[in-house]
Amino acid sequence: HGRYDVVIIGGGAGGISVAASLLKRRSSLDIAIIEPSETHYYQPGWTLVGAGIIDVERTQRAMEDVMPKKVTWYRQKARSVAPRRGWVILASGMRLHYRCLVVAVGMVMNWKGVEGLEETLGDHGVTSNYRPGLAAYTCSLITSMNQGRALFTQPTSTIKCAGAPQKAMYMACSNWLSRGVSSGIDVHFHSGQSVLYGVCEFVPALEGYIQHYDINNHLSDALVAVDGPCQRAWFRTQTSTGDREYDVPFDMLHVVPPHSPPWLIQDSGLADAHGWLDVMPETLQHRFFDTIFGIGDICNTDNAKTAAAVRHQAPVVAENVLSRLKERPLSAFYHGYGACPLMVEHGRAMLAEFDYNRKPVPAFPAWLVNGKRASRRAWYIKVHVLPWLYWNGMLKGHEWLVQPEGEPLLRHDMP
Ligand code: FAD
Repeated sequence: HGRYDVVIIGGGAGGISVAASLLKRRSSLDIAIIEPSETHYYQPGWTLVGAGIIDVERTQRAMEDVMPKKVTWYRQKARSVAPRRGWVILASGMRLHYRCLVVAVGMVMNWKGVEGLEETLGDHGVTSNYRPGLAAYTCSLITSMNQGRALFTQPTSTIKCAGAPQKAMYMACSNWLSRGVSSGIDVHFHSGQSVLYGVCEFVPALEGYIQHYDINNHLSDALVAVDGPCQRAWFRTQTSTGDREYDVPFDMLHVVPPHSPPWLIQDSGLADAHGWLDVMPETLQHRFFDTIFGIGDICNTDNAKTAAAVRHQAPVVAENVLSRLKERPLSAFYHGYGACPLMVEHGRAMLAEFDYNRKPVPAFPAWLVNGKRASRRAWYIKVHVLPWLYWNGMLKGHEWLVQPEGEPLLRHDMP
């Protein structure tokens, strides 16, 4: 059985970044990462693959190459956590004792949550940028389509990068417009959400694109079933008189599945009522177990579930874990930064950046990049700067493009 200063569950964006940030602060720390996957993905790149801008290989690296060298890597799943005993049990039954634990297990994509979906994914025009192996299929469907009906969906649940379902759609529409086939393609956006985008500042510009591309926008309207061979999709819509189900034919269907928290959190007694890791929004420390911290998509915090959020969370969690190890008060605070570069047409994006208060918090001055308007600079940042920053900055513990978040939020500002 191993004993470590810090055990991290998950070697995705959050797990690797926080390990690197911790080691930058104190290289003598004994850290273990538990991660079963041999491949590390830059998931924001999958939208670029779906739009035909890069190959999927550019979004993945061997896990071995991104693991900080001083970390001990356990190549298996964590089975459960015993928070009162201070240990994690691995799939093999082995026990790892920790002084501090960081939970970074991300979200589970629940493909079975839509009836008939899994059987037909990758066939009959049914695709998703949320699976790396399918993003290239999205691109081939877009480039070969000249007429028919295209549906793009977003579930009712919280998802990774809430803008990504729309990005897939705008990239498709941009391609159809530039090839002169858009008048023959009937485009529909079906979202289980009640608003087009959760931060009102960015909605008018997005609505402008919905009109520009002549998209039929259906809100509070979630995909519930698919019949691939018959190319039909079933939706459940909320109306004033109750729920109503209806079905429509399609030629292309881009699906974003419902997301859920991994069972491990609930099984270990670390979850809130909805199954997410129950942390304090500012310190990212667990609400009940003070040696446990969370980072990334698994946290029940009200920020945009993005790698951009992880970039701001990693130094906060690293600082607070070190304070906890030294038994000092926590001194670093996260204010809910999240970002979503909304690719709205080929060559232009809107850099939506905001915090817990849903207020824009731009990293760049407005004369350089205005987040409320689509610009070539924001596109360049999405396609070239952010992937570079991810691999070379964030995963290596460099804190570039992170504003210092030292001051706690005022209580009345809390989400
Ligand atoms: P992940 O990176 O998903 O990592 C979780 C890790 O935990 C995985 O490696 C998994 O194998 C491991 N794990 C799970 N269970 C266990 C277990 N029991 N034991 C051990 N390990 C376990 N973000 C942006 O900032 N900008 C974007 O434009 C953007 N676009 C996106 C587009 C798409 C299509 C997708 C899917 C995501 C996008 N994101 C974007 C979101 C971003 O990728 C995530 O927010 C980020 O990866 C979250 O990091 P994480 O560490 O919480 O989870």
